[in-house]
Amino acid sequence: MTAGAKTSPEQAPIHVLWINAGLSCDGDSVALTAATQPSVEEIALGALPGLPNVAVHWPLIDFECGPQGGADDFLEWFRKADRGELEPFVLVVEGSIPNEEVSGEGYWCGFGNDPATQQPITTNEWIDRLAPKALAVLAAGTCATYGGIHAMAGNPTGAMGVPDYLGWDWKSKAGLPIVCVPGCPIQPDNLAETITYLLYQASGQAPMIPLDEALRPTWLFGRTVHEGCDRAGYYEQGDFAEEYGSEKCIVKLGCWGPVVKCNVPKRGWMDGIGGCPNVGGICIGCTMPGFPDKFMPFMDEPPGGKLSTTVVGPYGAAVRSLRKITGKTLDKEPKWRHRAAELTTGYQGSQR
Ligand code: SF4
Ligand code: SF4
Repeated sequence: MTAGAKTSPEQAPIHVLWINAGLSCDGDSVALTAATQPSVEEIALGALPGLPNVAVHWPLIDFECGPQGGADDFLEWFRKADRGELEPFVLVVEGSIPNEEVSGEGYWCGFGNDPATQQPITTNEWIDRLAPKALAVLAAGTCATYGGIHAMAGNPTGAMGVPDYLGWDWKSKAGLPIVCVPGCPIQPDNLAETITYLLYQASGQAPMIPLDEALRPTWLFGRTVHEGCDRAGYYEQGDFAEEYGSEKCIVKLGCWGPVVKCNVPKRGWMDGIGGCPNVGGICIGCTMPGFPDKFMPFMDEPPGGKLSTTVVGPYGAAVRSLRKITGKTLDKEPKWRHRAAELTTGYQGSQR
């Protein structure tokens, strides 16, 4: 039995086939173990109301790790799906997809061997085989969504994201576009929540997942980092940190928050705690298709930032001094609270 499959299912489980054999550091898998809304355990064990029976085939938690052809051969689930014997399943891809057209005699990345030839099966070949049979394809993390670090200028692999590989207009056999949850790594709950959404949708309990033009769930990526940042009040007042360790806005240290779509400062990192700029780390735009090249060099003030901080400077200084005056007034009690014999609250006496 695999992780999460219930012992006496009344319905066929929805399988989650997770390939983390793209070009990646496995950071998204590691991050997901910290999810709490919901947790991996709640998804895998079907502990949420109405969640369909789920069987998760994910290297990080799967205990089927026996030899090829044995009773607990992890890859056999993927072969079954390839043979059309596993219905339905959601395919999760972690890591960027290399261009095997340019790999010469070798290959860039693979996932298990072909039993017939004992030769590696490339990750690309698995995607070619499984994507057309999947209910949905979920790209987890910035490498899988848009290419990420591996797809930087000058890379030798020609790495790309799943939408670049399958096509941005690609649709699953159930009519779903590729679902992208970027982040380097992903915010744990963003991925856990999206997996849960897809499972509810697959079982007819949720409408079509709403996605933006970069195929990200709109409710997670519809706002900028800046809009949810704990330091936004400092920005508005033109109060900028000159060095790390300050509690002020860190835009002059390189924060791209005003133009990056990400909910991490609002949601926190683990269990509501942390979240890049909230805890002093500049936002480097890791959820964006242009990451990393368009956000480099990371430690410089963003070009747009220079203009906006210059503009906000005098306005912010004026707001700051006006707020000081208002703050002083609000910091004092109203004058009618006293022990003098006269009542000065404005009381007009009984109306009767
Ligand atoms: S730290 Fe970044 S996200 Fe936060 S207020 Fe400043 S510029 Fe905006
Ligand atoms: S706040 Fe910026 S750096 Fe942090 S996760 Fe979001 S996009 Fe990435």
